[in-house]
Amino acid sequence: MKLLPADTYVDGVRAGDRAVLARAITLVESEHPKHAGLAQEVLTKLLPHTGRSRRVGISGVPGVGKSTFIDALGMHLVGNGHKVAVLAIDPSSSITGGSILGDKTRMYRLAREPAAYIRPSPSSGTLGGVARKTRETLLLCEAAGFDVVLVETVGVGQSETMVADLVDFYLVLMLAGAGDELQGIKRGILEVADMVAINKADGDNLPRATRARAEYRAALHLMRPGAEPVVTTCSAMEGTGIDTLWASVEDVVAKREASGELLHRRTQQQVGWMWAMVHDGLRAALRAHPEVAALVPVLEQAVREGRATPTSAALRVLGAFLPQSQA
Ligand code: GDP
Repeated sequence: MKLLPADTYVDGVRAGDRAVLARAITLVESEHPKHAGLAQEVLTKLLPHTGRSRRVGISGVPGVGKSTFIDALGMHLVGNGHKVAVLAIDPSSSITGGSILGDKTRMYRLAREPAAYIRPSPSSGTLGGVARKTRETLLLCEAAGFDVVLVETVGVGQSETMVADLVDFYLVLMLAGAGDELQGIKRGILEVADMVAINKADGDNLPRATRARAEYRAALHLMRPGAEPVVTTCSAMEGTGIDTLWASVEDVVAKREASGELLHRRTQQQVGWMWAMVHDGLRAALRAHPEVAALVPVLEQAVREGRATPTSAALRVLGAFLPQSQA
């Protein structure tokens, strides 16, 4: 990777130069230790120009219509004068190196919009690494003047909470199932959702979607009394319900801004990001420690065979890692 001077990245990003933005993102995505210092210098200089976007997470199972929805929502926002960045977190990419999300060709209209920027998921590294890259890419996009950042992820496992930790507002897309709304509810995701939108509310599916909306409302009322997410329907394909949906997002976020909740959430996220980095670093150092590496197979075997207690084995690992400590 050919590096630029820090100020060239800073000025280019600030000017909204897409080529420089792309290079700055590549820089922060780099896992090369030599790039980290420059990346942090650029981010630190840009920090005063960040934080002014609506950060919205969007998730849902494959096929729910995420790309169609983001295309429709993005076009709606661009039409209203917003600048929209779309970032993707694809949990499968950290395993396979391939990406099923965030492919530009999935958002046909938005991909051609000068006021939109679509960035695929970082394609390698641990989930923690992907989280860091996405957080920093989000900051770069804000500094480049994007005032709405949509963070897309597939509705599976850990990536959902990871996205919830990144955004101001979390939208979950759902489908009207065959009467299994209540059993099929994915609890984890509904606990962090600010809005549930039942997509494909069109054609023959419309009555089912309307019914599903009522069922979700009732279920969420029981599950999260006093803090129910907004439940709505839309058709990403026909573009219906998108404007009212966004109006509700704006409404909720504006209320949180006025009450100070938004700032509080972001401040907590920042501190959380710091600790996540500390934990990741510790874990990596532990893995790389030669004495620990030699000890681990022996101790695991001893624990498996009942020759050592898990506690005593853990203390020996920590003792090798932190010889001076009282571990
Ligand atoms: P993703 O995997 O979540 O990104 O889903 P896609 O956006 O690729 O959509 C999956 C399929 O559902 C495609 O064939 C879309 O055309 C279709 N689809 C998406 N949104 C709607 C909708 O609102 N109504 C209907 N009827 N089909 C939709």
